[in-house]
Amino acid sequence: MAAQIWYENDGDLSVFNGKKVAIIGYGSQGHAHALNLRDSGVDVVVGLRPTSKSVEFAKEQGLDVKSVADAAAEADVIMILTPDQAQRKVWANEIEPNLKPGAAIAFAHGFNIHYGYIKPTEDHPVFMVAPKGPGHIVRREYAAGRGVPVVVAVQQDPRGDAWDLTLAYAKALGALRAGAIRTTFKEETETDLFGEQNVLLGGVNKLVEMGFEVLTDAGYQPEIAYFEVCHELKMIVDLMNEGGLNKDRWSCSDTAQYGDYVNTCIDEHVRERMEYHLKRIQDGSFAKEFIEDQDAGAPKFKQLQEEYSHVRIEEVGPKLRAMFSWNNDGVKDADEANS
Ligand code: NAD
Ligand code: MG
Ligand code: MG
Ligand code: MG
Ligand code: MG
Repeated sequence: MAAQIWYENDGDLSVFNGKKVAIIGYGSQGHAHALNLRDSGVDVVVGLRPTSKSVEFAKEQGLDVKSVADAAAEADVIMILTPDQAQRKVWANEIEPNLKPGAAIAFAHGFNIHYGYIKPTEDHPVFMVAPKGPGHIVRREYAAGRGVPVVVAVQQDPRGDAWDLTLAYAKALGALRAGAIRTTFKEETETDLFGEQNVLLGGVNKLVEMGFEVLTDAGYQPEIAYFEVCHELKMIVDLMNEGGLNKDRWSCSDTAQYGDYVNTCIDEHVRERMEYHLKRIQDGSFAKEFIEDQDAGAPKFKQLQEEYSHVRIEEVGPKLRAMFSWNNDGVKDADEANS
């Protein structure tokens, strides 16, 4: 079945006439949604904890900033863009008790709805507009007159206007300039978790880490190992992004291609591990493990973060990254970027 895709003419911004949209959170996605919607002429209010450092940033951009409770109370559409693990409590304590009758609830990821951590009563439309890119790119592309594609879904549609709201929201975000693909909360949540665990983060990070360790344990210089298993990855991924797997293979030597076919470490055992992880996503056990740990103050998460921030490749990484001029131009290592 071909995917259903909507473009610019499929969204109608007049859906927002006389309506207010609250954006809860002003992080990666929050700032992009608030600014893009505002610049598309939508009446936006940002909901934040009064102590949040982001209050200042949002106000500097000329946005109206209120407490989460006050923003939720006056909004006709509420986009929840706090971290996934924080959404359930923000919902229960500050959003749900203050909702206007029939206010629409929106998300950029299906986690809390799909796993049942947030259950809006059935009179509230529930929809998703999930950008397929980091928030800073969503903002940058919008400002450049383009857009980042989104996947969109409707979970509850009590009045029959949930899709109009969804497409109007996607248009105001700039996303219909690129395209919106129809999905469901279940499909988006399960595939998103699968991709980040097995390929984008858990897959690639582990390949890089292990590749580096195998080479250096065998006596090769760390600097050389770093180039071979980490640095060149970006260039390969850029080619993949432009022209898929065929372009990245085409651009490499025949030696590299032949080795790719016959000497890869990824085998059918990896497929079995992927299928096992997919089951843990589908049956909710991954979500349960993550949320229970978060609710207990995230002891396991924090321990793992500490452990993984000292992997051996990072002993040489900062020195080598500094050799590349483009890395010295405003792009920082993670701990600097977060400080
Ligand atoms: P983030 O961590 O960058 O920002 C979260 C924001 O929420 C911050 O402004 C923070 O101050 C605020 N916040 C945290 N706890 C809060 C609380 N208790 N009350 C009020 N505000 C609070 O988050 P993000 O990465 O933008 O993710 C937001 C949502 O977007 C998530 O559902 C995520 O899955 C989804 N998403 C993110 C990306 C991405 O590129 N980061 C891409 C697609 C979808
Ligand atoms: Mg994702
Ligand atoms: Mg994700
Ligand atoms: Mg090479
Ligand atoms: Mg070639």
